[in-house]
Amino acid sequence: MGQHYEEFIRRVKELADLGHAQGMLSWDQETYMPPRGAGPRARSLGTLAGIYHERLTDPALVALVEKLRAGDLQGDAEVNLRYVERDQRRALKIPRELVVELSQTQSLAHEVWVEARKKSDFPLFRPWLEKLLGLQQEVAHRVGFEGSIYNAFLDQFEPYARIETVAPLLEQLRLRLVPLVKGIAAAGLRPAVGILDREFPVDRQEAFGRRVLADLGFDLERGRLDVSVHPFCSSTSPEDVRLTTRYSARQLTSALFGIIHEAGHGLYEQGLPADVEGTPVGGSVSLGIHESQSRLWENMIGRSRDFWEHYLPVLREYFPDQLKGVEVDAFYAAVNQVAPSLIRVEADEVTYNLHILLRFELEQALVEERVSVAELPELWDEKMVSYLGIRPPDAAKGVLQDTHWSIGLIGYFPTYSLGNLYAAQFFAQAQKEMPGLMAGVAQGDLLCLKGWLNRQVHTKGRRLNAGELVQAVTGEGLQVEYFAEYLEEKYGELYHLR
Ligand code: ZN
Repeated sequence: MGQHYEEFIRRVKELADLGHAQGMLSWDQETYMPPRGAGPRARSLGTLAGIYHERLTDPALVALVEKLRAGDLQGDAEVNLRYVERDQRRALKIPRELVVELSQTQSLAHEVWVEARKKSDFPLFRPWLEKLLGLQQEVAHRVGFEGSIYNAFLDQFEPYARIETVAPLLEQLRLRLVPLVKGIAAAGLRPAVGILDREFPVDRQEAFGRRVLADLGFDLERGRLDVSVHPFCSSTSPEDVRLTTRYSARQLTSALFGIIHEAGHGLYEQGLPADVEGTPVGGSVSLGIHESQSRLWENMIGRSRDFWEHYLPVLREYFPDQLKGVEVDAFYAAVNQVAPSLIRVEADEVTYNLHILLRFELEQALVEERVSVAELPELWDEKMVSYLGIRPPDAAKGVLQDTHWSIGLIGYFPTYSLGNLYAAQFFAQAQKEMPGLMAGVAQGDLLCLKGWLNRQVHTKGRRLNAGELVQAVTGEGLQVEYFAEYLEEKYGELYHLR
């Protein structure tokens, strides 16, 4: 087995290197590439994707996987084999022509979506979404699934998750959120958000953001912070983790919370086990677990009163005139304003998950063919009214707002809400184990929590799947209760609901 396994790992690391090259080209495309570079870049990425597919399905690697499967691998070796086998099985079942057609349809559909959103013209996008959906369903049938066809979609982003467990969790969450949102609206309290509506020079915002990054323990010897249109975190190794954000002089919170959010992803990547880098076991667990790290830092820490107890005076050093006379309570209330809004990415912590639920329910109904693409805009608007009490004035602010479906990311949305649930459950456990955690945060100590997350989550790599990880860290399976309670307590106090 030793020799076969060594050869297997050599090939797996080569695949990881190809993935790194793709990741770096994509990072550059979003940050520094000149606009005319798009054509050649698309070709390079296409070529690399082709080579990756060839190497993954190389008969020699297929034979190695079979030989190793017949043996009895344990521990890290078993995890590596299982994840490579998963990817390989999927790649082998999808013929090259279908891969190419899907990739081309995604590029074209995305371009039409950009145009359709600009004109708020859903019928323009409709045939493309229908085609994309049909191709994705074909892929799902070829790859195979148990239960609902939606499981084949979800499994790409949240391995081993199933609709049969995810749907009831999200439904429970909805039942807790809708009355909370109504209660907040009925309370009639309006935080003085005007204190955030001032001119905050971008270079000062960046300086403060870098200060917080350093305090969080994000290592800039092993990472970078740059600017892009859509903030993201991209990593090729724990030694090279890149974050981006976007600045706007009149929007202090957008860049700031963007940096903290992406730093949460970045700390996870920097904390992964470096000794098994380049093999599946050295990777992150799932999109949901990844999002739990960013949400925990952004919302549960970054939007906490304790955090601002320490950081408002620091922020005032950077913006003495703009923040003169602003007290912690007012600032804390302003960065936690809850108001139903049309756009998911601008939504607050409470209403955010209702935006996700709406998308999750619609995409599930779509792939299960219970609704048609043509019915989407009307169903979208009806759900917005029912969940948030507002009706989008047009498709651009409704069904056309997100890019996900236009690039074939169907089954991705629930990972955002799962991330919030995981985050709250980890956070509750961290506080249970370290009762002084938030008192430390109020003194500017963020490293205590970082160390805990390093030990409990990051260094485990992909040795446990998401369900096993939450069980191992918190002693129980994923619950809605922790997140619901966290929101009810925090916002109950902010909006005087009790
Ligand atoms: Zn994120």
